[in-house]
Amino acid sequence: MAENIMVVVAHPDDAEFGCAGTIALKVKEGAHVTYVVCTDGDKGTPDPSLSPVRLTQVRKGEQWCAAGVLGVQEVVFLGYPDGALEDSYGFRQDLVRLIRKHRPDIVFTMDPYRHYQLHRDHRIVGLVTMDAVFPYSRDPLHHPELLAEGLEPHKVKEIFLFSSDNADSYVDISTTFETKLNALACHESQMRSLESWRSLMTEWATVFGEKAGVPLAEGFKRLEMRK
Ligand SMILES: [Zn+2]
Repeated sequence: MAENIMVVVAHPDDAEFGCAGTIALKVKEGAHVTYVVCTDGDKGTPDPSLSPVRLTQVRKGEQWCAAGVLGVQEVVFLGYPDGALEDSYGFRQDLVRLIRKHRPDIVFTMDPYRHYQLHRDHRIVGLVTMDAVFPYSRDPLHHPELLAEGLEPHKVKEIFLFSSDNADSYVDISTTFETKLNALACHESQMRSLESWRSLMTEWATVFGEKAGVPLAEGFKRLEMRK
């Protein structure tokens, strides 16, 4: 059966930076991929003349563009304000609801344990996603209100954390590196120049590639969830 994958990120563009090469590869292999973008990214501009409402529209369009390039089938926007994610019951419930509904085998998210200089939204999205996978999606007595919605418990098999200081699992993205860049190119509102992104992505992928013994790779901290 085709793999069912969910990618949970804080902002439009996070997934493209962190795991788009791997996602493009998985889609080619037949995976079904759902992106969950938790905030609108409505503070992501140095231009004070751009209103948060307009920026939300722009960034949603950019995320759909990137999903189209990668072949990601579904994009869910949770609509939290940029910079305002909290480790709250409501946010966790949103993620548990989506995990129980979409029933992914693998969840990709941002490593919340990266040291220093970590965007607060990235830390919180990683923490709450890990909690939502285990134990809250898995154990039936958590979130009984979701059972009432007909959403049964679900066991995710693996978590892949990206932007990690402790990567231990590498995916060869040599054949999808250009697709990753094309997906990143959709995020025009965030870009100074595509060339600077190309050189940064090449640098990251080369470092991981050296560890994996391939030209270009993405690196993850991989967690196999206990049965
Ligand atoms: Zn971000």
